Amino acid sequence: MALPLTDRGSVPLRLDDLSLSFAADVPVLDGVALEVEAGSTLALLGPSGCGKTTLLRVIAGLERPDAGTVRVGDRLLTGPGVHVAPEQRHVGMVFQDWALFGHLDVARNVGFGLPRSERRSSPRIDRSLELVGMTEFASRRPDTLSGGQQQRVALARAIAPEPSVLLLDEPFSNLDSSMRVRVRSELHELLGELGITSVFVTHDQDEAFVLGSTVAVMSSGRVVQCGTPEDLYERPVDAWVAAFVGDADFVPGTAHGDTVETPLGVLPLADRRTGAVRVLVRPEHLRVVADPDGTPTDGPAGLRGRVVLVEYVGRATTVHVDVGDLVLRVCTPGGPTVGAGEDVIVQHGGGVVQALDPASGAPS
Ligand code: ATP
Repeated sequence: MALPLTDRGSVPLRLDDLSLSFAADVPVLDGVALEVEAGSTLALLGPSGCGKTTLLRVIAGLERPDAGTVRVGDRLLTGPGVHVAPEQRHVGMVFQDWALFGHLDVARNVGFGLPRSERRSSPRIDRSLELVGMTEFASRRPDTLSGGQQQRVALARAIAPEPSVLLLDEPFSNLDSSMRVRVRSELHELLGELGITSVFVTHDQDEAFVLGSTVAVMSSGRVVQCGTPEDLYERPVDAWVAAFVGDADFVPGTAHGDTVETPLGVLPLADRRTGAVRVLVRPEHLRVVADPDGTPTDGPAGLRGRVVLVEYVGRATTVHVDVGDLVLRVCTPGGPTVGAGEDVIVQHGGGVVQALDPASGAPS
């Protein structure tokens, strides 16, 4: 178990009403307000171009917003008439491409952000390398390291000056998919041990959910929803968020207080509603059973349809069922139990469902 990086203690990060436009009338950040608790990790999740990196750069002091404030603990870093220089913010950053210097060895890469007297050798370099498990590679050049090792050097360099806040911009984008999952787990463990307030940018929902104690979903420069991964998955504010954070299909429904009438049957509602709604159904909430006689009125309750696609990925199978005016996805553990072209009945497991406004943003 690593020791805490700094004895300064963790501090919260607070962003209020941040707005920034590079071109007139096209806001890249539009009233962003977020709070990251001391020692916790916030994941910024959103599609390409929604403003995630720009927000990170504003926190780092690399961009000046048109309006709004950035506070770390009691320190105002950005605000009306205030702009603390990036090097005086105590904010560390791990860039997308890691930005390691090929001509410097690992130890000197890690020492790069330290005062001149500490750059060649210092207890802070040794400590950071130890924290990321790279001590034995101190004299190697970055191009002799694997992608995962280079990523750890970039992290060691960011934490060596003992920052109050650590910013990570898609730090896994240079890794292949099997390495990503392993390095993600390592980083998850390390961030927990460091207890450093962190903001992590990604467009990958799994990464956001694994690393973020809180996740902020952004779209077009705005925070659409911020909450725990469970909040976002179980209680998305609209259909767009529902589909962005996981596989989501929607069926029409009529809500009657704590239940909703749907083509899949009468289901319990998470929140009381009345009137027309869109009901969120996740593939794992559904199951398929064979409908051998194809009789529309007899047999078990559910929605009748025909299997159009079966996708088996080892641990689970997703079956796409055409039920008339839409295709529902059904995900069950293990191998396929039905085949393409078969008539089936789609049933809901009966758990509580989330009702969204009928006009709730169409998923793209
Ligand atoms: P990605 O996931 O692709 O990295 P992102 O969510 O991080 O995207 P940003 O890099 O913050 O998005 O960019 C948001 C928008 O601002 C984009 O339309 C981008 O083209 C624009 N933008 C970013 N930096 C500048 C700049 N310096 N000048 C003009 N436009 C910019």
